[in-house]
Amino acid sequence: MPHILALDEGTTSARAIVFTQEGEIAAVAQREFKQILPQPGHVEHDPEEIWSTQIAVAVEALSRAGLRPRDLAAVGITNQRETVVIWNRKTGKPIHNAIVWQDRRTAPLCEKLRADGCEPLIQQRTGLLLDPYFSATKIAWLLDNIPNARAQAERGELAFGTIDTWLAWKLTSGHKHVTDPSNASRTLLFNIQTNKWDDELLKLFNIPRGLLPEVVPSSGVIAGVSTTLGLASVPLAGIAGDQQAALFGQLCTTPGLTKCTYGTGCFALQFTGPKPSASKNRLLSTIAWNHNNRTDYCLEGSVFIGGAAIQWLRDGLHAINAAPDIDALASSVPDSAGLTFVPAFTGLGAPHWDPYATGAMLGITRGTTTAHIARATLEGIALQVTDLLDAIHADTGVKLPELRVDGGAANSNLLMQIQADLLGVPVVRPKITETTALGAAYLAGLAVKLWKETDLTAHWKVDRRFEPQQAPGRLLEMKARWQRGLQRAGTWYERK
Ligand code: ADP
Repeated sequence: MPHILALDEGTTSARAIVFTQEGEIAAVAQREFKQILPQPGHVEHDPEEIWSTQIAVAVEALSRAGLRPRDLAAVGITNQRETVVIWNRKTGKPIHNAIVWQDRRTAPLCEKLRADGCEPLIQQRTGLLLDPYFSATKIAWLLDNIPNARAQAERGELAFGTIDTWLAWKLTSGHKHVTDPSNASRTLLFNIQTNKWDDELLKLFNIPRGLLPEVVPSSGVIAGVSTTLGLASVPLAGIAGDQQAALFGQLCTTPGLTKCTYGTGCFALQFTGPKPSASKNRLLSTIAWNHNNRTDYCLEGSVFIGGAAIQWLRDGLHAINAAPDIDALASSVPDSAGLTFVPAFTGLGAPHWDPYATGAMLGITRGTTTAHIARATLEGIALQVTDLLDAIHADTGVKLPELRVDGGAANSNLLMQIQADLLGVPVVRPKITETTALGAAYLAGLAVKLWKETDLTAHWKVDRRFEPQQAPGRLLEMKARWQRGLQRAGTWYERK
């Protein structure tokens, strides 16, 4: 029976998941890799280690499933987005560590470009904002800080890639220098109106065009894998950035369908259809995927601290032993007794974008217990996601039919119930919550015609549906307290 292998290269670990023809998980393997933190605000990965861990887990997953390469119909890639690798085309050697999406070293360049008035053009062409998060300023930093890099780049000797590109290059022994539109659209160099690399933006960031990969469809055969490391000749047939892959894995393929991933941070994406919709609420308008000769778009908003607030309860406050314990503790009280927790540990993301905000807990009384704090933590996560979805609604005007959820913290039934109450729509958790890998597998499986789209709908099964239950009065009170909490937590630190 043919299977599909999804390579899921995340920020802290590489995973490989083998899916059966019925879309079920046959085997998983995962390995962490090193987080290199040379100085505050700098975050790097070793590209060679990314490759070696990724291929190792691929081989491990295959062996766990008891399969050989010829049992695979295709391989799909999904990856941490925006992270930059530059390597020498001839030797295949990276010129430096990968600069990771979290890295803030290019904040001064972003400030300068903003002061020069570049942001409106950038937003209009790319759907993004001017922020160190995205790739372009990281590429420029490497060209300007690694000896000879710029001269070599101008001679066409170097290649740039996001992590998908790097893995595809390695899988094809350097024959394919490609990316897909979902990844390209996160670089600040890709025009989402024309679906091409944008010469004006390349000039603005001072990046030679010769560095850039070819943009290929998210679902389509790219090449056979040529490495001999256990995957030889399997077609590489799908690529998508992690959040867009999760959107596809949640089958959010008609306008208005929306998913939220509750991992360390929370990422809400709404599928918007074949035209980019400009955001008036500082959300990102980005490419969902290119499939069947059609490019589709989505709106994206993210908050930095989601499940990480639960980790803080575990590791910082020692209020719980393990993340799953939060439900029992938070359920031991009927409500947070007026406690509001704004988990803005690293500032506020969309739609507030306040890097000077701080974490804040307000309404503490003599009666406050860790149970109230646990409850306020779940409410704080759900309220942040509610703000994201309200901003998406303000942009698209589409009434949310339901919210599809995944990620580690989506396992909290209480969090999901609070979310359904706050949104006033059902929250739906699918059986397979490995939606990122599933999306990459779907894109690859469609490309090799292992599946038709109707097969995917038949595979996708609901684990649990959370219907809104709370009375609106209490919710209004919670939301009003939240707004006051946000104001107090906002711009706490002075701008330097
Ligand atoms: P990432 O991909 O960002 O590393 P994951 O999707 O693996 O994140 O989710 C990890 C987060 O989920 C952690 O922050 C953890 O606190 C939270 N988490 C995991 N399991 C549970 C659970 N049963 N209940 C609540 N939170 C959980």
